[in-house]
Amino acid sequence: MSGVWVWIEHRNGEIKSVSCEMLGAARSVADELGDSLTALVLGNDIEDLARSVFDLGADAVIGCDDSSLRDVRVEALGPLVAGLARERKPRVIISGASIPGRDLAAWVAAELDSGLVADGIGIKTEGGAVVVTRPVYAGKLLADVRVTSEPQIITLRSRAFPPAESTGGSGEVEWVQPAVSEEALSTRVVGHESSEGTVSLTDADIIVSGGRGVGGPEGFEPLQELADVLGGALGASRAAVDAGWIPYDHQVGQTGKTVSPDLYIALGISGAIQHQAGMRTSKIIVVVNKDADAPIFKLAAFGIVGDLFKIAPALTAEFRSRLGT
Ligand SMILES: Cc1cc2nc3c(=O)[nH]c(=O)nc-3n(C[C@H](O)[C@H](O)[C@H](O)COP(=O)(O)OP(=O)(O)OC[C@H]3O[C@@H](n4cnc5c(N)ncnc54)[C@H](O)[C@@H]3O)c2cc1C
Repeated sequence: MSGVWVWIEHRNGEIKSVSCEMLGAARSVADELGDSLTALVLGNDIEDLARSVFDLGADAVIGCDDSSLRDVRVEALGPLVAGLARERKPRVIISGASIPGRDLAAWVAAELDSGLVADGIGIKTEGGAVVVTRPVYAGKLLADVRVTSEPQIITLRSRAFPPAESTGGSGEVEWVQPAVSEEALSTRVVGHESSEGTVSLTDADIIVSGGRGVGGPEGFEPLQELADVLGGALGASRAAVDAGWIPYDHQVGQTGKTVSPDLYIALGISGAIQHQAGMRTSKIIVVVNKDADAPIFKLAAFGIVGDLFKIAPALTAEFRSRLGT
């Protein structure tokens, strides 16, 4: 078995940032193994997009352009990727640990009866095998995990790896046929509706997050203002989501989104282990809480003990004047 494959996620003709990061991580793995890097670009109307992946360091691109591959349906993608892997025997298959990336990786691993390491935040090679570092026990420990079967199927967390840089590379895409026709699929996507704000939580560099301490839906307004000034996204604890103060899409944590922004500002959040599981790999954590003993302070690079309704507007005003936004 040889070769490192990366599944490329894209939307509206653009490669998603998580896949640029996967290409960067996979390139270094392929180089260490002395192997080639192949990108899988699967979708509909994707000719230009598929060609552009050479510029991000892929040695080869396998493309499949078919209406069955619209809307990222795993029942079309899974058989195609599993079939290609069965035929060509790559050593490693990597995807982002996004919702579709996890879905696809699990499908392909089950189909090929292969091992899967999910949600990696580090990747290296040891003796010709790939070793993935992943958080365990809700992020309290890091484990190094190696898949002993091949292909080694791996999902990696977004924002944990630098994106691939432009190489100026070019090449010819190898086009293949879909595994399942549109007619044979049992699902139809009838529309898309985005419930997130303008900034996606998982892609955001900065997240301003509120918990039960905001006291109600209107309590998120000063947090939204702070997020807007910083160009960030709005997050929330499950307590705030369960109370119906903010939609589920904003939930950070074990049963919400896993985020890793450069800056995570937690206001009125106590820091339950389930919340920490989704945000503890953030680069800089700032905490605002009126209880100096709140567990979340243990993660904080900067902590402010006080009332969020005084501190959030003060931070907004200060950032606005310094950033001129
Ligand atoms: C299986 C399972 C999965 C879960 N998944 C998640 C998950 O994905 N995400 C998640 O977040 N939780 C999750 N939880 C829930 C988790 O255990 C906590 O209940 C939840 O995170 C608490 O939310 P909170 O910190 O907002 O509320 P609280 O724990 O009630 O904390 C509120 C904080 O606000 C502070 N505060 C109050 N007023 C102010 C003020 N005016 N100014 C400053 N600070 C103030 C308080 O001092 C307190 O620390 C899960 C639980 C289970 C059992």
